[in-house]
Amino acid sequence: MSAQIVYLNGSFLPLSEARVPVLDRGFIFGDGVYEVIPVYGRIPFRLPEHLRRLQNSLDAIRITNPHTTEVWTRLITDLAERQPWSNQSLYVQITRGVAKRDHAFPKAVTPTVFMMSGELTTPPKEEVENGVKAVTASDFRWGRCDIKSTALLGNVLLRQVAVDAGATETVLFRDGFLTEGSASNIFVIRDGVLLAPPKSHLMLPGITYDVVLELAAASGIPHQVREVTERETFTADELWMTSSTKEVLAIRELNGNPIGSGKPGPLFRRMHALYQEMKAACAAGSPVAANAP
Ligand code: PMP
Repeated sequence: MSAQIVYLNGSFLPLSEARVPVLDRGFIFGDGVYEVIPVYGRIPFRLPEHLRRLQNSLDAIRITNPHTTEVWTRLITDLAERQPWSNQSLYVQITRGVAKRDHAFPKAVTPTVFMMSGELTTPPKEEVENGVKAVTASDFRWGRCDIKSTALLGNVLLRQVAVDAGATETVLFRDGFLTEGSASNIFVIRDGVLLAPPKSHLMLPGITYDVVLELAAASGIPHQVREVTERETFTADELWMTSSTKEVLAIRELNGNPIGSGKPGPLFRRMHALYQEMKAACAAGSPVAANAP
């Protein structure tokens, strides 16, 4: 197999040749932001939305965006075209750059831009049909979870809680309210209504979260964006996790207790089908699917 091609600071090169100096602030401080963009049929899904979120993350940590939307679109499409896989998970990272170690922002520094893309592995059929297990934990992360920062230690530790328990995801609560998962957004279904916690500094504004709410609105699924309590989550009829790579997955068990019937519910099956239709439309080149109208 030929070497995987990645992008670093203006060049496309084999992964094994990509090198970053140890004084890069991404390495020293986790001083950077990132995006993960799903690619279907070599067409990036919801690219304008991912680039907008990237801009918001850069603004929040005061890094000047090194590229225009047009240049990003060209670079990302170019990288996707250089990969052997049709469906990919494309990773973009920008750090503040390389400087002598000091917490304060360095004066003149060039951001480091790195991108790689791997084969997109979506959940296996068994997980889609039967759902997955999740556990819960207290959300001890910082107060700016809306920034897609590479400093993911909180998420790493919380995700490991699930792995150690033989589960897929850790569902997080702060002060008795649902925030999100360690690497996903969480939806609760009660009495036929899809409930989504409102976007705030305490959760990442997921692109899949927006897609799910759009699909619900377009197909007449009752939905409400509002605070959801821990109790409402445990006694939900259905519980879903969403992310660009997991798509929409039903959580069948929380801390060992069944959610609803203990199987993916009817609304999940409907939403999963709608999501698959949208993916297929993106891969077929439909601009409406690839980008929000
Ligand atoms: N929340 C967290 C903490 C995440 O890491 C992710 C992405 N893995 C999401 C939510 C979902 O975001 P998206 O739908 O844009 O993948």
